[in-house]
Amino acid sequence: MQEKIRIAVDGPAGAGKSTIAKIVSKELGIVYLDTGAMYRAVALKAIEDEIDTKDRTGLAQMVEQINIIIDYLDGEQRIYLNDVDVTNRIRTPEISIGASNVAAAPEVRLKMVDLQRTISKKTNVVMDGRDIGTFVLPDAEFKFFLTASIEERALRRYKEQLAKGICNISLEEVRKDIEYRDKNDSGRDFAPLKKAADAIEIDTTSLSIEEVAQKIISSVKEKLKQ
Ligand code: C5P
Repeated sequence: MQEKIRIAVDGPAGAGKSTIAKIVSKELGIVYLDTGAMYRAVALKAIEDEIDTKDRTGLAQMVEQINIIIDYLDGEQRIYLNDVDVTNRIRTPEISIGASNVAAAPEVRLKMVDLQRTISKKTNVVMDGRDIGTFVLPDAEFKFFLTASIEERALRRYKEQLAKGICNISLEEVRKDIEYRDKNDSGRDFAPLKKAADAIEIDTTSLSIEEVAQKIISSVKEKLKQ
């Protein structure tokens, strides 16, 4: 096996990135890093401190004061905000929108990207996000860009929310949230959501999770053999 393996998995919300990246990490025995959780933790802090998630000056000051730590418990990523485990509090629709807003602030991104690069230097990693292949790890050994139709992505997120017991949001609202984030994430000036020129694009609309994961795993293994 080659020494360094960095796999970038980018794409819009609901394309299946995190579920697939987790399978890939288990199969290849490498660390999985969910970078979206970091922007979510920043959004949680902003909301708690009553800072508008679009107030760049307020966010820039706030982000200097916060400490985010990623750890793993029984193979699952945990995220700590100023030493408090916030893993279970960052998955609400309000935090999703807030994360997309704070992620447009360059000061926030630079701090998160620094942490992401530090982790990738220490270990082999599969990282999911929006800008991993283009900005965080432009020289990653493997890059994938997952897409799916908006209908399919909304349906997946809706079912996910129901499974978590979040029942106060309709399919239409989930779709609107995703459309908002797509527009915000692709339209921001700094490190927008974008397919890297050298990424392999996979449309997951009519594929199962297992099929997509296997495509990625076999593509990685194939290249490692060369
Ligand atoms: O992946 P997830 O849905 O948890 O990400 C939440 C938000 O964080 C995204 O809508 C996006 O705005 C932001 N994000 C980002 N760059 C990343 C990961 C997430 O801008 N690498």
